[in-house]
Amino acid sequence: MSLETSLILFKPDAVAKNVVGTVLSRFEAEGFRIRGIKMLALSDEILAEHYSHIADKPFFPSVRGFMQESPVIALALEGENVIARVRDLLGPTDSKAAAAGTIRGDFGDKEGDAKMRNVCHASDSVEAAADELKRFFKEGEIFA
Ligand code: ADP
Repeated sequence: MSLETSLILFKPDAVAKNVVGTVLSRFEAEGFRIRGIKMLALSDEILAEHYSHIADKPFFPSVRGFMQESPVIALALEGENVIARVRDLLGPTDSKAAAAGTIRGDFGDKEGDAKMRNVCHASDSVEAAADELKRFFKEGEIFA
C-alpha cells in the first residue's frame, strides 16, 4: 500500500447533471481525503497540455469544446492506492461499457457521446498525478 494523491476533474457533464456531490460522496465513503478543491474554467492551453496524448485524434476538438462547456471542479484526493482505486470506481472510458455501480456506468452518457461525456477525469499513474496536480493547483492550494 502506498499513500498517493490523485488529480480528479469533475467534467462539465457532472456539473450540469448536479452529481458532483453524489460522486464526491463515493470518494469520501472509500475513506479518501480531500486535500484541495477548486472550480475553474479550462483554457485551450491547459487542455492542450492535459490532453496532449489525444491531441492528434480526430475527436480532440470535440473533447476540448466539451471540457469548456462550463467550469470544471478539480480535486486533489489522497488515500492508500487512490490512483488505481479511483480508476476502478470510475470504470472504463466508454460510459456505455461501464458496469452499473461504477461512476461512469451510473452517471455517464449512455447514448451519443458516451466515450466523451464520462463524468470525471482521474490520474492514471503516480507520474501523471504529479504533473496534473501541478497543472491544476498552485503552490499553497493543496493542504496537508
Ligand atoms: P480516460 O479519461 O478514461 O483516461 P483517455 O485518456 O483515453 O481516457 O481520453 C481522455 C478523454 O478523452 C476521455 O475521458 C474522454 O472524455 C475523451 N475520449 C477518449 N476517447 C474518445 C473517443 N473515442 N471519442 C470521444 N471522446 C473520447
